[in-house]
Amino acid sequence: MEKKKKGFIERIWEVVRDALGFYRNPPYVADYMREANVRSAAYMSFVVIALELWMVVRYINKYVFAGKVKDIGEFFHWTKSYWIFMGCALAVFIYALIFLSGRIKRYKQLSNLWTVGLGMVCLYFGMITSFSDFEKGKMITCFLTMVMYAGCLLIWRPYISVIMMTAIAAVFRYWINNYAVGRDGASIQLGDGDTVNYQMYFISLTMVAISIYYQRHREAKKAQSLELAMVTDDVTGLPNMRRFRVEASEYVKKAVEEGRHPVYIFFNVENFQTYNDRNGYEAGNVFLKEIGQIITRNFPGEPVARDTEDHFAVLTCREDFEDRVKAVREAVKVAEKGEIYLDMKAGTLRPTDVDADPVLELNKCRHACYLLKNHEEDAIKEYDEKLDKNYRLRQYVLNNIDKAVREGYIKVYYQPVVWADDGMLCGCEALARWDDPDMGFLSPGVFIPVLEECRQIHKLDRCIYNTVCRRMRECLDAGLPVVPVSLNFSRLDFELMDVVAELEGLIEKYNIPRDYLHVEITESALTDNMAKLQEAMNILHEKGYSIWLDDFGSGYSSMNVLKDYRFDLLKVDMVFLRNFSGNENARKIVKSILDLAKSLNMMTLTEGVETEEAVEFLQEAGCGRLQGYFYGKPMVYEDILKKIEDGTYRLSDKYI
Ligand code: C2E
Ligand code: CA
Ligand code: CA
Repeated sequence: MEKKKKGFIERIWEVVRDALGFYRNPPYVADYMREANVRSAAYMSFVVIALELWMVVRYINKYVFAGKVKDIGEFFHWTKSYWIFMGCALAVFIYALIFLSGRIKRYKQLSNLWTVGLGMVCLYFGMITSFSDFEKGKMITCFLTMVMYAGCLLIWRPYISVIMMTAIAAVFRYWINNYAVGRDGASIQLGDGDTVNYQMYFISLTMVAISIYYQRHREAKKAQSLELAMVTDDVTGLPNMRRFRVEASEYVKKAVEEGRHPVYIFFNVENFQTYNDRNGYEAGNVFLKEIGQIITRNFPGEPVARDTEDHFAVLTCREDFEDRVKAVREAVKVAEKGEIYLDMKAGTLRPTDVDADPVLELNKCRHACYLLKNHEEDAIKEYDEKLDKNYRLRQYVLNNIDKAVREGYIKVYYQPVVWADDGMLCGCEALARWDDPDMGFLSPGVFIPVLEECRQIHKLDRCIYNTVCRRMRECLDAGLPVVPVSLNFSRLDFELMDVVAELEGLIEKYNIPRDYLHVEITESALTDNMAKLQEAMNILHEKGYSIWLDDFGSGYSSMNVLKDYRFDLLKVDMVFLRNFSGNENARKIVKSILDLAKSLNMMTLTEGVETEEAVEFLQEAGCGRLQGYFYGKPMVYEDILKKIEDGTYRLSDKYI
């Protein structure tokens, strides 16, 4: 937009306006100036207190010690003005200290009233003292000193300073010149020379006040722009989360007080990465700015901020916020022009605690929003009680995984694996359990996905592997039966730790044969060909570990996995045995998977074996090993030992 050229009058007015201070200060600057005035008030009131104390001491020294005062009543009668003055200063001093400690949030404007009050008291005492001094033929120093106090106490805009100073000077001069009476009873006035000095004094003091004002004003503006730079997002020009946090806190409190219902909204642009890849980072930034504008347009006058990446935060009291979210979604799609799939998803939350941290509230919205991933039709999800329970559990898991590992809340359960042909025990699978003193018994379905999502899974797995190996060594030392154990590995384990070094370390520490540990990697973890994982698998193979492919058939690219990776054993996923009875197709599929594995020189194991019927079929189909509730649920190792002892499990003498 082209700027209109300013006319002469307009420019003159601007100069006058700036010189005299006829403008509105933004809240930040106003706060800064107010605080500076209160700080001055603290200093000056302290000086007044010290001065009046000194006056009292002086009085005591001069009159009390000289025995000129009869009683305490007389003492207070003659010193009352000192006490009144000191009391006023003390009140202002205490107020200033509370104000400066940041404890006064509301009615901050009243601070001016306090300082003006003290200023008036100063002037009043100055005037009456100097008036009587003048009548006694002395100088009016006390008044001038008090004017200086009042002047330093309050730094106003120039026009106020000029009016105030002129008024004080005129009033006092008028009073003296018209009412002061000398010792001889005749009226007395300021002499010509004194009048000039008197006027010069006021003019100079006014100039000092104005120049202090300008200096403070400049500092305030500088501080404001620094502050603004710190709280503004570079890319979109919107406030960043630091500012949002402050604005949102105030907004929620005010809205609740006024009986309105605030709602937090977290926006996520789905698939923004593709936009960046296609159009470049710069264009991506421009588009983010446009999205920010779209959101601001739909939520005018309300806190809007950019979080990180393609995430935005809004706080609104509008009842039609859902329609507005939809409007944002549509507008973003239009702005993108439909070249790629791009969608705007939102998670919302109605805050129940006005003091809750806005950033944490937004994290909950984020959680709700992420649940919409891959649900193309839904654009908005509210964070409700059910989600809250889920979210808290999730937070609990993340906040307590270290403690759980440290305190031994993580337990290993062992599920038996048997040979299909004779049902003899040939191994166990180690499965994690979290036995928490506060939350109770947690199953892996609760904590494993959270730990994987937040890249903490290696902490748990490391603990499981260590526990398994330690237990194995204890059994070997005690002459108790030991079977090979298969350990579950997450794809992330290969990123987050050196799997080979980890296993080798345990083998050495506990002196365990390598063929007593099997490495289970789930099929769904192997979607993309990861060089790091391939490399680790090759080394593990070379070292002599057996590597098992877990959950075969559960993912989308089972065949690719077989093509790209070398496994020693294939675990047929338990989905195939669900609704197995009388299902001819299931039988055919399982049979062909087993045949396929054999043709690739892989051993086989079928999971989820729950019935006699399944056992018979799998024996016939030539499956190598079986695992499932039919043989035993996961249990503590003591139970495995008991069942070996009572003959429920017969130990096989071959393990491979
Ligand atoms: P998974 O590796 O496929 O483990 C088999 C799961 O199936 C276990 O569930 C087991 O209790 C259950 N199961 C075994 N037999 C039967 C059966 O006959 N019928 C039915 N319905 N279920 C059976 P769990 O222990 O809840 O473990 C769930 C998943 O959590 C595991 O699936 C594995 O992916 C993961 N997991 C468990 N422990 C660990 C661990 O220590 N580390 C890692 N990374 N993942 C683990
Ligand atoms: Ca497994
Ligand atoms: Ca499995």
